Amino acid sequence: MSSMDIRTIPTSTPTPTPTLNAHPSTHTHPHHSASHDYSRNPMLVYWEMTQACGLACRHCRAEAVSTPHPDELTYEEGKNLLRQIAAFDKPTPHLVFTGGDPLRRTDLFPLLDYARSLGINVSITPSATSDLTIDVMAKLKDHGIDSFGLSLDGSNAARHEAVRGVEGCFDWTIAAAKAAASLGVPIQINTLVAEETVDDIPAIYELLKTFPVMRWSLFFLIEVGRGKVLQPISSERGEQLMNWIYDQSKIAPFAVATTEAPSYRRVALSRMREAGMVAAEIERTPVYRGFGIRDGHGIMFISNQGDICPAGFLPLAMGNVRTDQLQDVYRNAPMFQALHNPNGFKGKCGRCEYRALCGGSRARAFAATGDPLASDPFCYYEPAAS
Ligand code: SF4
Repeated sequence: MSSMDIRTIPTSTPTPTPTLNAHPSTHTHPHHSASHDYSRNPMLVYWEMTQACGLACRHCRAEAVSTPHPDELTYEEGKNLLRQIAAFDKPTPHLVFTGGDPLRRTDLFPLLDYARSLGINVSITPSATSDLTIDVMAKLKDHGIDSFGLSLDGSNAARHEAVRGVEGCFDWTIAAAKAAASLGVPIQINTLVAEETVDDIPAIYELLKTFPVMRWSLFFLIEVGRGKVLQPISSERGEQLMNWIYDQSKIAPFAVATTEAPSYRRVALSRMREAGMVAAEIERTPVYRGFGIRDGHGIMFISNQGDICPAGFLPLAMGNVRTDQLQDVYRNAPMFQALHNPNGFKGKCGRCEYRALCGGSRARAFAATGDPLASDPFCYYEPAAS
């Protein structure tokens, strides 16, 4: 799919929109382009540089530990990966250094320099530990980092640390956010949406309004890794929350986005149509620029040992950068090809009129059923029977 023509998406019978009654008070996607051909080139590549991390968060996808894996990609292998990323068509995909904690890589700065020399724009998601000082952040800025991604899962220390499992990490996160602001480096705040956090979301939003945040991305829990110890919210609550997110996106002082909740695009499109917006207006909105992107289609993930996966939350290795070419795997591996084609998805996602712009969370389908092409069990919407 090379472009997203919303005029071809039928107006569906509206699903009743529940209201968010309990709390009335209230993604680093720099190169989004609806004209990208995501079946040939990803927009975002995540590289899990290491599994080593000083935190032990309760929902860690990577099940991070204190030491690197002995088979972690070496410096030379990392450079080879970077050259493969640079070999995609222009504009070069944006790269996110993630982990574990990328600050645990002793060759972080040479790898960042090498990526920049190849014309790759790089963001980083460091863990909020005492290592994340303003000096380190200033050095990252000097070496050309584009933005920082920080996790904030609670509006206060008790709420945040109950989720992240490490005393002190709320203050480190706030300090890092303030440091990034003082350095003039954009920040994306990532917030987990789960039963354990959902009632605190409005308070987190209020807190974020006191910082110069570029984007707030609400990550809807996928039960993989240590995330299995937390509870996802219900589909109905999710629908309420997505409507609330849409309302805030109209007035928030920063961009508001979702991660692993592509059906937010359905909610946003329905709301925009209800408001009488025409196609040209919809195509100028930030949410439109994410239409069509999903796990393995516009996004890919490289594990610390070089496995090529559709997404961090969809840990199915389709190849390895030590032996395979990234571009070839992304374009030609059978599972990537299947993920590029929403017409082949099963269940309601396969017949849904929103499948091209949404397609459901492939990671959640996989976590729930073992089949990444199954329908997203979280979605509240019932497409008309075809
Ligand atoms: S049924 Fe699937 S494709 Fe349709 S809106 Fe829901 S998650 Fe998206």
